[in-house]
Amino acid sequence: MSGVNPSVDPSVDPRADPEADPWARWDLTRVINAAGTMTAIGASRVGDEVRAHVDAIMQGFVHIHEAQARAFALIAEVTGAEGGCVVGCSAAGVTLSVAAAITGDDLAMIEALPEAANGRTVVMQAGHCINYGAPVDQAVRLAGAKVAAIGTAALCETYHLEAALDAAPAAAVFVLSHHTVREGELPLPLFVSLCHARGVPVIVDAAAEYHFRDALTAGADLVVVSGHKFFGGVTAGIVAGRRDLIRATYLQHRGIGRKMKASKEAIIGAMTALEAWKTRDHTAERGTETARVARWLERLGTLPGVSASIHEDWTGNPVQRARLVIDPSASGCPAHILSARLAARSPSIVVRDDHAERGEIYLDPCNLTDDEAERVADAFAEELHRAAEIGSHKSWADAKRESSAAILRWPDP
Ligand SMILES: *Cc1c(COP(=O)(O)O)cnc(C)c1O
Repeated sequence: MSGVNPSVDPSVDPRADPEADPWARWDLTRVINAAGTMTAIGASRVGDEVRAHVDAIMQGFVHIHEAQARAFALIAEVTGAEGGCVVGCSAAGVTLSVAAAITGDDLAMIEALPEAANGRTVVMQAGHCINYGAPVDQAVRLAGAKVAAIGTAALCETYHLEAALDAAPAAAVFVLSHHTVREGELPLPLFVSLCHARGVPVIVDAAAEYHFRDALTAGADLVVVSGHKFFGGVTAGIVAGRRDLIRATYLQHRGIGRKMKASKEAIIGAMTALEAWKTRDHTAERGTETARVARWLERLGTLPGVSASIHEDWTGNPVQRARLVIDPSASGCPAHILSARLAARSPSIVVRDDHAERGEIYLDPCNLTDDEAERVADAFAEELHRAAEIGSHKSWADAKRESSAAILRWPDP
């Protein structure tokens, strides 16, 4: 995260020692992250304090149940929930929260999952059945539950939820994410009140949300947030919420949770990141980021066929991004081609391109240095210019046709 580690200090830059530089040692492409907090490229820069504590704990031993009890208290303090625990990642947090709602503290049942779920359903709005790199509904099904997807992609009414609640589901899952279809959905406070009227606990997947605490205020029983996205910790998921359900979530480590466990370094990393969160200068971080976005707009807004504006985050995260709308005929390059060309460079530049088919590219300022931000602008202008010279480009349909084939080529490039 920018505020944690705003620039690479040459005196401690691992690149100074090629033996200690994993990029050099393993011939890895260096990546400039203009995409935000994406697990697929390593989520966030981990701050000095977290790295120091993780390094220290890895040189010794700890009773995991004690570390998790300390995490319980710290998560309570930071989130305002009754308590919390650390799990392997946010996706694991969804699975283990659902498992907790199914088994409670029945230890035999915990060992008997997933069959012991015995077809219990978990309600989700259809527009929340998204893919963050894997389908969120699969995280629910992994616990042995069946997903009852209610409504349709862009419409869910109270009667859809009430009908599903009549079938006595084990839980209801609400996803807070820019990936959801935020159109015609039931808002969280209404969703919670209908679920609670039938005694059904609500689990909120807020993996990438800065305002995860609002979900608790809205009445969620469990909230899942990533340790490695906005918190800038090592890979971990943090689950916060009701004491009985948190205990049941932690106890899943005796069952399916063993396969998605939080290591000592994950627990200490998450705790140190939570501690740092309390004292982080969020206002200063926002200031630095806003300046980067302004600079991108200034440098890229005048390119032919590009219109640039400030974009406020879809789900209210306090992050502004540069929104670049690329007119393929005026610029000579469709947005998806530009994104692919930026990614193919060395260093590889990763931008937010999930709206590329609409001609939009977003640059996120939260996980790069000022110097890297300038290099992103240089590369953007350069690739747009080169692509315009080439002239004809692969259509979106052809790019789609090839994308599955590209996935299946691994381990070849
Ligand atoms: C990132 C993300 C996840 C998965 O998070 P991991 O911690 O990488 O497992 C799950 N749900 C949503 C909404 C996400 O954004």
